[in-house]
Amino acid sequence: MNRTAAVPGVADGNGAEARAGSRRSERSPGAGAQGQAGATGATRRAPAVRRRTGLAYDPICLRHDPGRTHPERSARLTATMERLAREPWFAELVPVAAAPCPAERLEAVHAPDYIARAEGGCRARGALLDRPDVPDYIAGAEEVCRSGGPYLDVPDVGVSRESFDVARIAAGAGLALADRVMAGEIDNGFSLARPPGHHAERSLALGFCVFNNAAILARYLQRRHGLEKVLILDWDVHHGNGTQHAFEEDPTVLYASLHQYPFYPGTGAASEEGIGRGTGATVNCPMPAGARDALYEEAFRARILPAIDRFKPDAVLLSAGFDAHAEDPLAAVELSTGCYRWMSERVLEAADRHAGGRVVSLLEGGYSLDALPECVAAHIECLAGADRDARAAGTLEAGDGLTKGNEEE
Ligand SMILES: [Zn+2]
Repeated sequence: MNRTAAVPGVADGNGAEARAGSRRSERSPGAGAQGQAGATGATRRAPAVRRRTGLAYDPICLRHDPGRTHPERSARLTATMERLAREPWFAELVPVAAAPCPAERLEAVHAPDYIARAEGGCRARGALLDRPDVPDYIAGAEEVCRSGGPYLDVPDVGVSRESFDVARIAAGAGLALADRVMAGEIDNGFSLARPPGHHAERSLALGFCVFNNAAILARYLQRRHGLEKVLILDWDVHHGNGTQHAFEEDPTVLYASLHQYPFYPGTGAASEEGIGRGTGATVNCPMPAGARDALYEEAFRARILPAIDRFKPDAVLLSAGFDAHAEDPLAAVELSTGCYRWMSERVLEAADRHAGGRVVSLLEGGYSLDALPECVAAHIECLAGADRDARAAGTLEAGDGLTKGNEEE
């Protein structure tokens, strides 16, 4: 069996291709995703969705194992997929298959010797800890011992034998979504992948991150698709040091971040506004521990949205971490799920104003297995434009919703 075929909403590559090429309005209600999603659609009729939203999810991402007690665990994705599959609009999402990120796209952000070190470190760690019987055990043991531990560069980036391949899929998922958006096959998309990316530096793994997925995607949109200006909005509770450093001298990529400060990783002061020609294209909104929705909304209105309107991006990328939620165990910002919904709506409006609605959202952090699935569901519901109010009020019949959705296309 194909490794993706048994997972709700995720088809094999050919099926995903075929569906991505068809418009939602041509599909029957509730069709499109397989297995549990299809069953959900059949028993619980779909509400209106106003946009075609892609979902990139590949179970290979479950195989990255940073260690038994590590908070960045595969259950983040399985719990989220189970939560999404319960939504009546889940069957309306367009499954998008990811391919491994090509070396040249990785090298747009990362040094070749770092990429080689990441591959060797992951395979070696796996050789030592997972497969002590394989022929490269001695080489693996040597690599792990020399590197100082079963991790890549720093102790919090624990890796397993398949972590390099998984990290290439996590980076490639954003590229696949962007290709579909640029082809007009979907309006926007969400990558439910791991490991996250925004702490990864040009030559250093850091903060659970191996490759900087958002930075790689920004360069891809510029070089492969010819876009001039790309926004990366980062609302993960930690500052995206790697992303900021990748573009701090570059006026063509606006990096805007809201994050707890002072806090890990230590960067992200308001005074960090870019360097040289890039001055002004870095916008940092440091938030105090204990910050709630109102402070985030104020920062959005006062700094984030005006900066976006001045910059006028051709595409909007989101480093969508959900670890600023009140229930998250790793940080002390206390956002509600509703704040993520509010921010999502503002981002979509900004993308409509400037970028033809083009939004690709990438999962970063989020470590509460209760809050993360709720937040991702709320976020995707916004991306898809699901008619939540009508559903909540119980006034929307499936036929009404689909008619309305099609009229608005
Ligand atoms: Zn984070």
